[in-house]
Amino acid sequence: NRPGAAFPFDNSYVGLPQRFFAAQAPTAVAEPWLIKLNEPLAAELGLDVEALRRDGAAIFSGNLVPEGAEPLAMAYAGHQFGGFSPQLGDGRAILLGEVIDRSGKRYDIQLKGAGPTPFSRRGDGRAAIGPVLREYIISEAMFALGIPATRALAAVTTGEPVYREEVLPGAVFTRVAASHIRVGTFQYFAARGDTDGVRALADYVIDRHYPALKEAENPYLALFEAVSERQAALIARWLHVGFVHGVMNTDNMTVSGETIDFGPCAFMDAYDPATVFSSIDQHGRYAYANQPGIGQWNLARLGETLLPLIDAEPDSAVDKANAVIKSYGERFQAHWLAGMRDKIGLASEEDGDLDLVQALLSLMQAQGADFTLAFRRLSDLAGDDAAEPEFAASFREPEAGGAWLTLWRERLSRDPQTASERAVAMRSVNPAFIPRNHRVEQAIEAAVENGDFSLFEALLAVLSKPYEDQPGFAAYREPPKPSERVLATFC
Ligand code: AMP
Ligand code: MG
Ligand code: MG
Repeated sequence: NRPGAAFPFDNSYVGLPQRFFAAQAPTAVAEPWLIKLNEPLAAELGLDVEALRRDGAAIFSGNLVPEGAEPLAMAYAGHQFGGFSPQLGDGRAILLGEVIDRSGKRYDIQLKGAGPTPFSRRGDGRAAIGPVLREYIISEAMFALGIPATRALAAVTTGEPVYREEVLPGAVFTRVAASHIRVGTFQYFAARGDTDGVRALADYVIDRHYPALKEAENPYLALFEAVSERQAALIARWLHVGFVHGVMNTDNMTVSGETIDFGPCAFMDAYDPATVFSSIDQHGRYAYANQPGIGQWNLARLGETLLPLIDAEPDSAVDKANAVIKSYGERFQAHWLAGMRDKIGLASEEDGDLDLVQALLSLMQAQGADFTLAFRRLSDLAGDDAAEPEFAASFREPEAGGAWLTLWRERLSRDPQTASERAVAMRSVNPAFIPRNHRVEQAIEAAVENGDFSLFEALLAVLSKPYEDQPGFAAYREPPKPSERVLATFC
């Protein structure tokens, strides 16, 4: 229980060649204050919770570098909105080190907003409180929804202003990730013609995230395939809950398969495949329905970096990589359809299921149905015919859903589950609660304007059990009133 001895660090990234990172300590801040410590996560990670309660403000602000930390900023490149930057890197994030959790899994502990690094370019190395709270809320909500994501260990305010379009309170976010290795990390070395670097990184990734692949006939091709599989599964999960990442640049796509970088992300309310929130995504490159295709584009960029490792014969390497990129499309479609079957309560498979799903989505779009509520009400309806009026109320014209319900019931008559089994299963995949954008914005506004974190805390509490009804929080289920709608998010 010594000050700063709260982390049983076991660092490995720092053992990679020096060109992989820059050693960089956090820059101390004026007056750190602990907004939130995620105690259950701290305990799972084997951290000294009591020490963190006591010293958390100092540690999570970067003012007290804990014992065993070897702080560094990681080098990476990336395609941002399609344009390549050969050098991005952690411009405001500092990896303190890694810990092994209670189940034996290795996690990075990273401070985001902890001051400038050699990769900061013109940035100040800092984060504003709004995006810190947004990342905290949404990454923890994703975890509770069962979607792979980086986690929130802590948030602190710095007592210092940050200068954006306006002057905002500064904050630091502590992120926990299976690793922070991105597609862009591979691109960094490939862009320099540094094949040894790509190989060292690939070997490290296989060791850390895909150890079984060491035995594969072609481990690097198998790695590409495994990352593609995880991304196909992940992006399908995003679509199932209405998540719009907002900035799917290659530096914001992990090779571990976790969702990372919750900048301008948001969940859609009314179903519309063209939904975009990010203020910087003017052409809708990263719109809701574009995400699977962007995933494939990003994976093609990863594949390019691996070509020299996949096969010494260039044409053959390209053929092998192309086969993986093509199979991503099939993998995504299979994950997506499987999840959509679950959402409408089908335990069996028939050829017509895709059409049935598409018909519901088209109806929802035409009728302005709230994506989350409509599926939750359908789950209720699966177990209780008396819930039909609530489901019908999802649509602008309540009678519009009738024809689809007839098709659905016909299909259910050929499905093995009982009505009550189906309702339970559907309620476990169709959340009652998502981090609705207007709620997130309200929580941020209260914190920024009044130093009031009660909405932030309430939102975290309700989102920690997204599949439970929680009648006391019924208002949190509701889509925004027209006056509450938030159309743009900023990172
Ligand atoms: P992002 O759009 O969050 O993925 O960030 C893209 C790049 O910009 C990364 O290299 C970040 O480290 C860097 N960056 C973002 N904000 C800042 C900042 N305030 N100061 C320095 N670098 C930043
Ligand atoms: Mg990023
Ligand atoms: Mg970001």
